[in-house]
Amino acid sequence: MNVSDSEVVARLLSDHGYRPCDLPEDARVILVNTCSIRENAEKRVMARLDYFGLMKRQDPQLKVGILGCMATRLKEALLEHPAVDFVAGPDSYRHLPGMLGPSPTAPVQVKLSATETYADIKPYRELSRGVTSFVTIMRGCNNMCAYCIVPYVRGRERSRDPLSVEEEVRDLFAGGFREVTLLGQNVNSYHWKPGDSTAPVTFAQLLERVAGISSLLRVRYTTSHPKDMQDDVLRAMARYPNICKHIHLPVQSGSNQMLKKMNRGYTREDYLERIASIRRILPGCSISSDIIAGFCDETPEDHAQTLSLMKEARFDQAFMFHYSQRPNTLAARHYQDNVPEDVKIGRLNEIIALQNLLSLESNRADVDKEFEVLVEGVSKRSREDYFGRTGTNKVCVFPHGNSTVGNYVRVKVKSCTAATLKAEIITENNRS
Ligand code: SF4
Repeated sequence: MNVSDSEVVARLLSDHGYRPCDLPEDARVILVNTCSIRENAEKRVMARLDYFGLMKRQDPQLKVGILGCMATRLKEALLEHPAVDFVAGPDSYRHLPGMLGPSPTAPVQVKLSATETYADIKPYRELSRGVTSFVTIMRGCNNMCAYCIVPYVRGRERSRDPLSVEEEVRDLFAGGFREVTLLGQNVNSYHWKPGDSTAPVTFAQLLERVAGISSLLRVRYTTSHPKDMQDDVLRAMARYPNICKHIHLPVQSGSNQMLKKMNRGYTREDYLERIASIRRILPGCSISSDIIAGFCDETPEDHAQTLSLMKEARFDQAFMFHYSQRPNTLAARHYQDNVPEDVKIGRLNEIIALQNLLSLESNRADVDKEFEVLVEGVSKRSREDYFGRTGTNKVCVFPHGNSTVGNYVRVKVKSCTAATLKAEIITENNRS
């Protein structure tokens, strides 16, 4: 989401004569786009600000601004840091040219909007330098998961006009991009109500409209919410071969007590029923998840439930964290963060160890199978290899032969680790 927002900001400023540069040392203005979801992310931002503070001592003309979720959360308090000149929340980016102008407007702009979607701003894609891109289809979130700060820092949910989404995707395709990921905190509640009497557009319909732009364009999306994901989306995925067969479906916990306390709006049984639907309608579809270890009052039995759900759901990949309390959230106001740190870390380590096994098993099942892969670039490990992802979102590395970045190749998987498939090309430039 922040990459996508940074591209909107870069466009707003490039329209006023600013140009991006590669190194902070070459910049006249530094913008730090921030995330507040985890405490660690905020700590890293503060460490960067200390460094920018040193740069400002050498060059007092340098301007430093904080964007994103930390801006909304900390507001004026951020100005107390000697590096920070101005603060703009996620719905205030249109103020940036004025904040940086010769008669700067107020240095703190953090008001959340019920309508802002930046639908009319063409994101500055030159920052992406690749063949894959993100397209924001909605902003904010109306859910109130007890641990989550997003509704407080990014505001109420609003969907973007599907025509502007399609136009952006068409531009991307014409510019050589071959994969788009449609982004929203909860894409399943995407809902565009036109001003006239025509019926509202649902996420499944938007997905089909985007997939219909070209069969050479891969379409992904994230994030799904288990309480809102309906079979219409799964059926749309089944109808279009270019909609990638991967679903990120955050479960967070396998215990009904914890799910209730987290205010997630579904039970373990509901979640497993969604997994069964995915397996039924989209055989071979990969599933990833988010898991939190050590939420408030979590018992060893709750933790065991999470491990057992992971075994039942057989996630291909997962993002795993131990709970870190975020200020002003429902959990911070009403619950005690009472699972000791060492217990949280111990449980997280068990979750990670299990997921590593599941990921390895999932990848081993792909050995000797063939996949179509979009070539995304040169592998970090070897200049002789390219990397790309399968439709099931598995990273695949293969000797590049005569293939080219931005084209599709057909590969056969020869071996694997828990994180990567190692393959050989069968057909170069498969569908260009
Ligand atoms: S669905 Fe829950 S976890 Fe996701 S952004 Fe909204 S409140 Fe946060």
